Amino acid sequence: MVRAEQVHKSFGSLEVLKGVDLEVRSGEVCCLLGPSGSGKSTFLRCINHLEKINAGRIWVDGELIGYRQRGDKLYEMREKEVAAQRRAIGMVFQRFNLFPHKTALDNVTEAPLLVRREKRSEARDRAVALLERVGLGDKLHNYPSQLSGGQQQRVAIARALAMRPKLMLFDEPTSALDPELVGEVLDVMKDLARDGMTMIVVTHEIGFAREVGDSLVFMDDGVVVEQGNPREVIANPQQDRTRSFLAKVL
Ligand code: ATP
Ligand code: MG
Repeated sequence: MVRAEQVHKSFGSLEVLKGVDLEVRSGEVCCLLGPSGSGKSTFLRCINHLEKINAGRIWVDGELIGYRQRGDKLYEMREKEVAAQRRAIGMVFQRFNLFPHKTALDNVTEAPLLVRREKRSEARDRAVALLERVGLGDKLHNYPSQLSGGQQQRVAIARALAMRPKLMLFDEPTSALDPELVGEVLDVMKDLARDGMTMIVVTHEIGFAREVGDSLVFMDDGVVVEQGNPREVIANPQQDRTRSFLAKVL
């Protein structure tokens, strides 16, 4: 479902991604771990082309992201085509990024109405179902300021799902939450995983990686240092850098 080959990304003279390779199969949950500044968020942003890569290639569901290939030449896509690709990829950030002046329900129906041009009644029915699915059936008309952090994050997940994504990217979705609210968000993500959603999750929640992850990828300094079955990597890391990182977060 996702394949990255030798992805390079620099900001000015700072090389942040130095040849990242990654493969995630359909229905798999890939957990991405690594120290601060190692390039995890940058890599996620490259997958949906919020950042333009300097070299390498990324495919999502067989489609080359951001480029068209003719012969052996690559041409940059137009913004409209990029936007169409991005629509199929849901993203949930550390901060909830909900529209503050819209209710939970309106946050979830916004994109289906405006971008997918769904009928209002359809968009609404589906939004209600999605909010019920994330346990917020009784908070449809609350504004973000009237929701806890964990509830806001669950609205953000429902909002991403409303676009019927093929792939969900999560960038430390629980790290801004009070500890007692982490579980309710992880439970929603577990439910999604069980349902067969393909997910790439940047997280320091080792328990989640071990329980839900099909693969664990440890990144440091812009490269993939180690990857494998989460239980095996966590129990028996092969690389020193992985070992010392895990010793800090476990
Ligand atoms: P964290 O765990 O703290 O979220 P990360 O692994 O997600 O870290 P990134 O946010 O990808 O790390 O950042 C990697 C490096 O790229 C950092 O040195 C950061 O300062 C730099 N960087 C990220 N975005 C930009 C940008 N838009 N312009 C310049 N430098 C950037
Ligand atoms: Mg980050």
